[in-house]
Amino acid sequence: MCDFDGTATLLDIGDEISRHFGGAAHWEDASARFRRGDLDTRGIIETIYQHVVATEEEVRAFAVSAARLRPGFAALVLACRDRGAPFVLASGGLRQYIDAVLAEHLPKDLRAHVRVMANEGIFSPDGVRVRFPGEEESRAEGCVVCGSCKRVPVAQVRREGARFVIGVGDGFADRCLAQFSDQVFAREGSFLQRYCVEHGLQHAAFTTLDGAAEALRSFPR
Ligand SMILES: [Mg+2]
Repeated sequence: MCDFDGTATLLDIGDEISRHFGGAAHWEDASARFRRGDLDTRGIIETIYQHVVATEEEVRAFAVSAARLRPGFAALVLACRDRGAPFVLASGGLRQYIDAVLAEHLPKDLRAHVRVMANEGIFSPDGVRVRFPGEEESRAEGCVVCGSCKRVPVAQVRREGARFVIGVGDGFADRCLAQFSDQVFAREGSFLQRYCVEHGLQHAAFTTLDGAAEALRSFPR
């Protein structure tokens, strides 16, 4: 179970889109409001896209040009495929730009193994609204702050038979992922890593995804 922005990719593409199309000042203001606790995870996701006035095609093209996949990402997807484990990209970002980046930057045969669970952008001349497809189930599972909480896809793969879930992430939307996974990889120096340290959550810090790929390959069958 892998986060997209800042984990699968080097940059946070959602933040890049917000700053590029919606203005850096608005993004800074939203970030400050989140740090003060005035916005929860769902709130900041909604807010950063509010002033994005662009077509879906423009946003997809910008995302493709801004994104670089993190070293080890393709190896991680391949390791999952090789041992028959599902690979889920669980993202608080927008499905549209994630799909575009994967189509452009990941080989087709690996793309076919990636399941994307993300939010949905609703584009209009007044800005982008966000639909949270996992919201109802998130609340049912006990989370009211994430919008589409990552505990939902974790529960889903467990229902489908997963016995061990490896969670990989970096941001505030990955706190629930870390809590509900069996093993956690947190990007070195990230919000999630600080959170894990502060809350005594066992984790491995990463800069590339090769360690996570190796964990998959060496996991006992
Ligand atoms: Mg992230």
